[in-house]
Amino acid sequence: MKSYDLIIVGGCASGIVAAINAKRRNSDIKIAIIEKLPRIGKKLLATGNGKCNLTNETSAAHNYVGKEFASYAFEKYSPEKIKEFFASLGLLCYTDSCGRVYPESNTAASVVDALRFELERLKIDVYCETPVTEIKHKSDFVINGEFICKKLIIAAGGKASPSQGSDGSGYMLAKSLGHSITRLYPALVPLCASPEITKPMKGVRVRNVTLTLKGEKKIAQTSGEILFTDYGLSGIAAMELAASAQKYIDDVKCNPFTYIDFMPDMSYNELVDYLLNLNKIKGFTNIDNLLTGFLPKAVGIAICKACKLYKADKLISELNEKDIRKIAEKIKSFPLEVTGAKDFKDAQVTSGGIKTSEIDEKTMQSKICRNLYFAGEIIDVDGGCGGFNLQWAWASGMLAGELN
Ligand SMILES: Cc1cc2nc3c(=O)[nH]c(=O)nc-3n(C[C@H](O)[C@H](O)[C@H](O)COP(=O)(O)OP(=O)(O)OC[C@H]3O[C@@H](n4cnc5c(N)ncnc54)[C@H](O)[C@@H]3O)c2cc1C
Repeated sequence: MKSYDLIIVGGCASGIVAAINAKRRNSDIKIAIIEKLPRIGKKLLATGNGKCNLTNETSAAHNYVGKEFASYAFEKYSPEKIKEFFASLGLLCYTDSCGRVYPESNTAASVVDALRFELERLKIDVYCETPVTEIKHKSDFVINGEFICKKLIIAAGGKASPSQGSDGSGYMLAKSLGHSITRLYPALVPLCASPEITKPMKGVRVRNVTLTLKGEKKIAQTSGEILFTDYGLSGIAAMELAASAQKYIDDVKCNPFTYIDFMPDMSYNELVDYLLNLNKIKGFTNIDNLLTGFLPKAVGIAICKACKLYKADKLISELNEKDIRKIAEKIKSFPLEVTGAKDFKDAQVTSGGIKTSEIDEKTMQSKICRNLYFAGEIIDVDGGCGGFNLQWAWASGMLAGELN
């Protein structure tokens, strides 16, 4: 039996920093990471489109589901502290205009390398291709009947993107040690919505929209880019609505609608004035061109069709003021029925996880099983796109690694 003071299950973002922090704080302890994949940090390589958006300078507890629980970790390990941590590994970063932090090299491999070298320097043992399938606990933890340790951190991620290792087996391990898991939803995943409307616009992106998800009342609102697909909507603004939409469908058993505001920076009246003026500028051209001054052509056509004003050979000058007002209404509020979201395979994050009421937020230690800690996405905390989820993985991993 291989014996350690601390074992960490899961060798990606939260697990690696937990190991590093634990060893830096106490060089006498013997630590191992157990990872099921052939290499550590695989998911990190896919983050931020291969660039790894490793945190967000604007990140604070209010950006998260589970904010009350997460606030202590974020106070102690703020984005600034995380940047300092990476600087201590020799990794320099830059910040874009939205507060998103990336490695100066613009490649996620630099982040994984920096972490990997620190594990080597600190002589932390790493066992790859070793899926943990069983943990037995009396006074110590016995893992797969092969490893024994006094303290254990489970940092096995959620269920999102299982090809990168996080297949949900961490939940099973947590359950076997007495923990309960909330309902789980794929989050940051495309929406399935009115394919008959979106399909003709497949591949078309719109840079800056506001999306409002409504059932009987407003459920959530996001803004940013959308991408039309043959099944519905992708893009950051749509993906950020996915978990809320599915929770609503599950709870209320009815489909919500998402309303797209294609011109969030213009009021309805300003838009009407603008469109009426277009009649003077290009009234002699085909209706296909009505909205090409600010929207892709296919979107303009879909809007005119939704207003039942579209005919292939119609001219812009044939539209009267009532028609223009109808079109402006649809530009400000274009409805799509949301029937669900793509599944965990396509998701970036899991919404839900180990119940936060069962974990001490100041230490990440289990309230149910002494010397057991959790870190990262496996806990019921999740945030939006833009570096927020890795910020949680680092902050909670660092805190768990304190072993308090
Ligand atoms: C495509 C994609 C892009 C993303 N981009 C960003 C981004 O740019 N910025 C951002 O903030 N977030 C991003 N995220 C989310 C972010 O990557 C995760 O929230 C974060 O990696 C979670 O870290 P974690 O350590 O908790 O879990 P994970 O990174 O999922 O790591 C868990 C590890 O545990 C291992 N494991 C699981 N079960 C077992 C087991 N039974 N035995 C042994 N090992 C096990 C897995 O193989 C894995 O290596 C992205 C996610 C995806 C899928």
